Amino acid sequence: MTELVVISGKGGTGKTTLVGSFAALAEGAVVVDCDVDAANLHILLGGEVVEKRPYRGSEAAAIDRGKCVACGACAEACRFDAIRAEGDLYYVDPLSCEGCGACAHVCPAGAIRMEERQSGWIYVSRTPYGTLVHGELLPGEENSGKLVTRVKMRARGVARTEGASLLLIDGSPGIGCPVIASLSGAHAALIVAEPSRSALHDLLRVAGVARHFGSRLFLALNKADLSPRLAEEIRETAAREGITYLGEIPYDEGVTAAQLAGAPVVVHSDGPAAAAIQGIWGKLRGELAR
Ligand code: SF4
Ligand code: SF4
Repeated sequence: MTELVVISGKGGTGKTTLVGSFAALAEGAVVVDCDVDAANLHILLGGEVVEKRPYRGSEAAAIDRGKCVACGACAEACRFDAIRAEGDLYYVDPLSCEGCGACAHVCPAGAIRMEERQSGWIYVSRTPYGTLVHGELLPGEENSGKLVTRVKMRARGVARTEGASLLLIDGSPGIGCPVIASLSGAHAALIVAEPSRSALHDLLRVAGVARHFGSRLFLALNKADLSPRLAEEIRETAAREGITYLGEIPYDEGVTAAQLAGAPVVVHSDGPAAAAIQGIWGKLRGELAR
């Protein structure tokens, strides 16, 4: 099974537009939304949730009142002001607890234990374009990289069960922990960029992370016609870096129309962007088969 991750140096470059269309063109791929901080593929692809599992990605302290001797050592040790007292009654404010475990370490009565707590959800959805696995962090929860890893693990399990030959991953934007988790294990990474000065810098940074994992690197330029000069600079940089250029997608109002209609561009439109995406997918499929 091939793992292809689509990434970009920042959000809003058209990454999800491409993944949605690839899902429609690939037929039978398992699709994964690793942009857990702003998951939106399920809106684009539609369908229904068939599995919803709690994601337990963090811990919180819990005080056993039967053992507590009300010494106050835990409240003193807590740097997050998460332990409160009402008279001799000590309790943990779960919204403030960061799960560091310092309180449990200092408690002389062994009255504090660390408990797993739910940090989000992992979903499996059936869509008209294949099975989609996606995640959601609960408000205030951090460590989305860990959730990305769990979402991918679930997706690999689903792909094995379905006998899918392609795991199509919408990666997290940027180069932080979530995108590193998105890229881990990927055979190929398609970088989506728009022609801008910052995109040149982003391309090199994202390529550096992807190369670390030994992924084959590809590039597609979105709205390339908005700045032909910068588009050319990015293509030259990609060539120097050994990144295979697959093509460009012109600015096309059909893309916005497809988004508003909640459908992949290649399904909703037969305009220039849809034709370009089909061309890019054809080349990419050919490369992945080599
Ligand atoms: S685990 Fe850390 S943050 Fe939570 S209550 Fe204990 S000391 Fe405070
Ligand atoms: S450190 Fe332990 S015994 Fe002391 S107040 Fe906290 S929970 Fe109670």
